[in-house]
Amino acid sequence: MLLASHGRAAAAEPVLEHAPRVASYQLDAKLDEGAHRVYGRGSIELFNYTSTTLHELYLHLYMNAFKNDQSLFLRSPFGAGRSGGHGGKWGYIDVKRLYAPQMEADLWPNRSAKSPGDPDDETDVRVPLTVPLEPGQTLKLDVTFEVQLPEIVERTGFKQSYHFVAQWFPKLAQLLPDGSFNHFSFHPQSEFAADFGSYDVTLDVPEKDVVGATGKCEPLPSPGVGRRALRCRAKDVHDFAWTSWPDFVETRAQVGSVDVRVLTPPNHAKNAATELETVRFGLSHFGERFGAYPYSTLTVVHPPDAAADSGGMEYPTLITTGGAWFAPFTGARDVEAVTIHELGHQWFYGLFASDEHRFPFLDEGLNSYAEHSGLAQRFGTASAFSGFGLRISNEALSRAIAAARGADEPIAQGAGDFFSFRSVGAIVYGRTASLMSTLERVYGKQQLDLALHDYADFARFRHPEPRDLLEAVRGRLGDAAAGNLERALFERASVDYLVRDVQSVPRDPHAGVFDESSGRRTVPRSEPRPPAHFAGHAIVLRHGTLEFPVDIELCFEDAHCEKRSWDGHGTDYTLSVDSTSQLVSVTVDPTQRVLLDDDLTNNAAGTRERGTPRAFERLFYYAELLLGGGLP
Ligand SMILES: [Zn+2]
Repeated sequence: MLLASHGRAAAAEPVLEHAPRVASYQLDAKLDEGAHRVYGRGSIELFNYTSTTLHELYLHLYMNAFKNDQSLFLRSPFGAGRSGGHGGKWGYIDVKRLYAPQMEADLWPNRSAKSPGDPDDETDVRVPLTVPLEPGQTLKLDVTFEVQLPEIVERTGFKQSYHFVAQWFPKLAQLLPDGSFNHFSFHPQSEFAADFGSYDVTLDVPEKDVVGATGKCEPLPSPGVGRRALRCRAKDVHDFAWTSWPDFVETRAQVGSVDVRVLTPPNHAKNAATELETVRFGLSHFGERFGAYPYSTLTVVHPPDAAADSGGMEYPTLITTGGAWFAPFTGARDVEAVTIHELGHQWFYGLFASDEHRFPFLDEGLNSYAEHSGLAQRFGTASAFSGFGLRISNEALSRAIAAARGADEPIAQGAGDFFSFRSVGAIVYGRTASLMSTLERVYGKQQLDLALHDYADFARFRHPEPRDLLEAVRGRLGDAAAGNLERALFERASVDYLVRDVQSVPRDPHAGVFDESSGRRTVPRSEPRPPAHFAGHAIVLRHGTLEFPVDIELCFEDAHCEKRSWDGHGTDYTLSVDSTSQLVSVTVDPTQRVLLDDDLTNNAAGTRERGTPRAFERLFYYAELLLGGGLP
């Protein structure tokens, strides 16, 4: 039941079958579809698994991020988060009662109404306990609350008769092993952190609505005229989201032991088929790489076009995807990409539950790499786009996005510490993915797969931290790889390989007067004739502090090429080339294993001008122009 303590040795820990049950919820929710309100009541249970006596707790009221334009989420003049603004109608949550039976007290009147240190924000609320909660005890709280849903903003809310209800109930902040709470205001660049538990949620909705929700749902007797009710239950999860809309078309399939439902708007049959096929591939692919998907249901929600902002998000056993009805016909693999990305989050978020606020790269970054390598496995070099005779991979795309901001900021920092959401996109999503792809290409996919499998085995239900990833990489790829990973994550470390001073000159046989032990000897100059030998020279340099081993390719006048290797240690490597054909060009890292290389245009130099590397860089640039945009 106890969470693993820190400083743990990943290899020694058994894979957990179930999550520790720390924060559990039993909720009844009634949707007033006309007013777009949810009336909620039920109970919350917190198990004090720590060895510390608790005198307070923190509740996240995320819906209050959309209450007014002074919330931390909305007050930036530059727009909010991923969706870039607020909806047409404010959203908020009112808690009416938070009663603790074992304390015989309503704790709500004594809460701090505002977030700590932020008099304008109401998303992080401290609640003092009137009786301390001892180690090993469970606190039960009876709660009553009302939610006004916003018009769709940041993946939650309503649009006409469509409702997507996420971050909607008073949610316990994550209890950390030292007895403190991991609480924070809802930041526009940040996602979440929560404890595992069980959810038992009854939904009361209009009779004509089709419902998608976390967990396994069963119908209940109708609660009244024109209404229907469902009871949805999920174990070993850390959140609960649901959607209700009369126009959903359901496509259903059994994939292994998982009951998959795809909910799409009408006229999206092609997208529904694409999403189902992507999930079919992804459940098996990610299951092999990161451990089996342990739940019996998975719901894929494709929002209506008017509510596209609720697409591209992950919740336990429920993901939202997106794309226009015509997306499958354009050549861009947007629908596949967003679906497989969100499915990947069932591991990098759902099962692992790393702290998305403190280390978003463990979630979005590793998941972007998982997305790219999954798509590459399925579609090869055309993983992002195939059309007009052009094939573009997600790796190329990711490199292009990351290269634009390079090492502006460390990867391993809090979501709110990044300059902007554009920076989160480039560094958390793009640079982490390029870093992991670099490890894959330099040290071998098989070894990195083993390392990530070790990480996944450990991370399942354990809230992993960066050190757990570093240890897994060290265990399979060695100290040098782990050192590179650590510097790239924490120290803004970068690398640029380049070639300078390529020369190749003919060497005639020696001529002149030579003193030898047998006496003085005069060797005449030979007659002019084609040179038999060339003396060649080049310098390969490494800028930056990442030290990846690289290949160096030398190509000669007679069209043959030779390969040298450099371990990447030291700042430079001098090549001496004695050859029978003239050296024409030297290329460092000719197969582009080091995707993190800041500048690919200087990776080759020759004794003559060559244009190929520049053309290569331009392709990345056009890839970015073609497909840059939203980050799921
Ligand atoms: Zn994501």
